Amino acid sequence: MKRIISLMLFIAFFASTLFAWELGKYGNFKFERMGTSNVWIMHGPAMEPNRKNRGFMNNPAFIEGKNGLIVIDPGGNYRVGKKILEEIEKVSKKPIVAVLNTHKHGDHWFANVAVAEKYPKAAFYAHPNMIKEAKAGEADKWYGILQRLSGNLEGSRPYRYPDHELVDGQTIEIDGQHFLIHHPKKAHTDTDILIEHKESNTLFLGDNVMKNRLGGFDSSSSILGNIELLEGIMKNGRYALYVPGHGPSGAKEETVGPYLRYLKTLKKWAQKAYDNDEEYYVYKDKVTKELGSIAMWDAYDHQMGKHLGKVYREIEEKDME
Ligand SMILES: [Zn+2]
Repeated sequence: MKRIISLMLFIAFFASTLFAWELGKYGNFKFERMGTSNVWIMHGPAMEPNRKNRGFMNNPAFIEGKNGLIVIDPGGNYRVGKKILEEIEKVSKKPIVAVLNTHKHGDHWFANVAVAEKYPKAAFYAHPNMIKEAKAGEADKWYGILQRLSGNLEGSRPYRYPDHELVDGQTIEIDGQHFLIHHPKKAHTDTDILIEHKESNTLFLGDNVMKNRLGGFDSSSSILGNIELLEGIMKNGRYALYVPGHGPSGAKEETVGPYLRYLKTLKKWAQKAYDNDEEYYVYKDKVTKELGSIAMWDAYDHQMGKHLGKVYREIEEKDME
C-alpha cells in the first residue's frame, strides 16, 4: 500500500512538472479552457511583481482561431513570455497571428518581444494612446519598476511596441474571430481598451477590474471614470465571462462587483471628508471596516490610502470646474 501511494505521489509530481509551469510556492500555472469556448486563460498570481513570481502576475489569454491564435496581454517580461509560449504550445501548436495589449503598463505587454521573436509575422494591436505614451517614457518607467521588483527583465528590450491601432467602437476580425473594442476616455489609465470577443461572449476588462490585489492609479487615470465605466457594465453587461487584468475570471457579480464596491467605498468616504472640510485620511479606518474581506487583498495596506487621496482630489477638481 505504502509503495502504491509513493508511486502515485511520484506520478502526480512528475505529471505536474510535465504539464504545468511551476512557480515555487505560488503553485503550478497552465492555460485553462473557459468552459467549452475557444478562450484559454492562465490566471497569474494576484499580487505585486516580485522576485519569487518573476514578474508574472497578470492574466495572459488566447483565443483559438481556425488557423492561428490571438493573444491578449502575454505578460510582463521576455523570460515570462517564453514560459507563456511554452504553455500555449502544450494546448495548441497553431502560430500566434495577433497580440492585443489592453493598456500601457509593462506587466501586461513587455512579453510581446518573446512572441515577436518566435512569430515575426504576428500583428500587435493597442489603443493609439497606449502606443504614444509607451514610447514617450511609460515603457522606460515600467522597465525600472519591474526590474527593481522582479529583477527579471533581461531580454525585454528593445521593446516590441504595438503598431496596429484599435479605437473606441471598432470591430475587428482576426482569423475568423470577431472583437469589439471599447475605450473609456479615462479609467484605469487613458490608454485602456476593453475587448469583447463575440464568439465566446467574453469581456476582457484589462486593469479596469482587479480581484484579490490592488494596483496603482497613475496620473493618467480616473477613479471616478473607472466607477462610471463599471457601473455601466453592471447595468448593461450581458457577457458569459468577465476577465479582469489580475485575479480570477468569472460571472459579472463575483468579478466586477468587489472592485466596484472598493472604488465606491473610497468615493463615499472621500466625499464625506470633502463635504466636512476634513482630511481624507481620517476616514481610512472607516473604509477598511466597511470593506471587510476586500481589505485583505494584496497591496491593500500601501495602496488604499493613496487611492482615497486620489479620489478626494478628483472630487475637489470636479467641484472647481
Ligand atoms: Zn495596469
